Amino acid sequence: YQNNSPKLRKFDHNDKLASSPVDIRSLNVQEISSYIDRLEQPTYRAEQIYQWIWQKGVRSFDQMTNLPISLRNDLSSYFILNNIVLASTSTSRDKTVKYGIRLHDGLVVEAVLIPQGKRVTACVSSQVGCSLDCTFCATAKLKRIRNLSVQEIYDQVFHLRQESFEKYNTPLTNIVFMGMGEPLMNFKNVVDGIQMITSSQGLGMSAERITVSTSGISKLIRKLAEAKLGVRLAVSLHSARTEVRETIMPFSKKFKLVELQNALIYWYQKTKSKITFEYIIFRGINDTKEDINCLVEYCKRVPSKVNFIEYNPVEGDNFKPATPEVLQLYMKELKLNNVHSTFRKSRGKDIDAACGQLANKLISTPT
Ligand code: SAH
Repeated sequence: YQNNSPKLRKFDHNDKLASSPVDIRSLNVQEISSYIDRLEQPTYRAEQIYQWIWQKGVRSFDQMTNLPISLRNDLSSYFILNNIVLASTSTSRDKTVKYGIRLHDGLVVEAVLIPQGKRVTACVSSQVGCSLDCTFCATAKLKRIRNLSVQEIYDQVFHLRQESFEKYNTPLTNIVFMGMGEPLMNFKNVVDGIQMITSSQGLGMSAERITVSTSGISKLIRKLAEAKLGVRLAVSLHSARTEVRETIMPFSKKFKLVELQNALIYWYQKTKSKITFEYIIFRGINDTKEDINCLVEYCKRVPSKVNFIEYNPVEGDNFKPATPEVLQLYMKELKLNNVHSTFRKSRGKDIDAACGQLANKLISTPT
């Protein structure tokens, strides 16, 4: 696009617009304002545009019906709106729905909508693939291709919220960053995305209903505590014994359990919010008395509770779930030590939508 209008050309000097095309949603309201000023349009237009692109989630400039057509044309010659598309859905017997979400560059991530009584939870992705190497997780087999943008994170929630209204006639009540990727490795976009989701200029959802799940990157847990978002933190622990954890989650050689513990204590001091440990009990790996004792000791040092998750089979893996007796033993010992624990039955297992099963087959076939 060649622009010959002098008042628009001036704006080309702005850094953010130097390399076109620019997604208008990468601009904050002040940046949109300064663009509007250069067009000699009234300032309130910036607020209107901001509302269209975030709160109302429009997919094209034509949908901004309270703007003059000339302004809509100017916008569409300068900016683009990168949209995500719900490209595929599969519905589980338990009503969990898995969405294949196509990004503007053709890559695909997955997000899951989970109805549970009065609650509806959206499980969203933060990266295409994942750079970590948890041996039991399907996403880890994909390698990290790229981070999701703020818009892509926000849009998953926006769309799943609409789906929740349409399918269950209920608002979305909870959001968990437990889809594909490691949210803390895409720190800025995840934080900015959450800020937009909770902002009154965005979806106005409560931060308390948002859980960020991490495999335990100490430095970034501290940074998240300092961001003061008011979100909850879940940590995929799976073992409190160094040698076991380093075998099933090899990256954790770089992120020691003691450092993790200190970061979690720091998290609690800063936020006063208890940590949830996610824990799978694998047969022959972490099912001994010693494993139980180590978890109990770890939990006594960190204000926490434990959420045991069922192992969901992943193609090509040899892991086996432990027996129900071991689970009972774990829960009994934790209780004796005043640590609360729950067991979460997996949802969406029949459609590969359960924890650890997200790995879209379309991922390497951009359209
Ligand atoms: N990277 C983040 C976010 C992903 S959350 C994290 O690790 O927390 C996905 C959750 O599913 C994590 O708790 C992960 O440990 C768990 N998980 C991975 N593979 C699994 C499997 N095969 N069965 C059950 N849970 C699994």
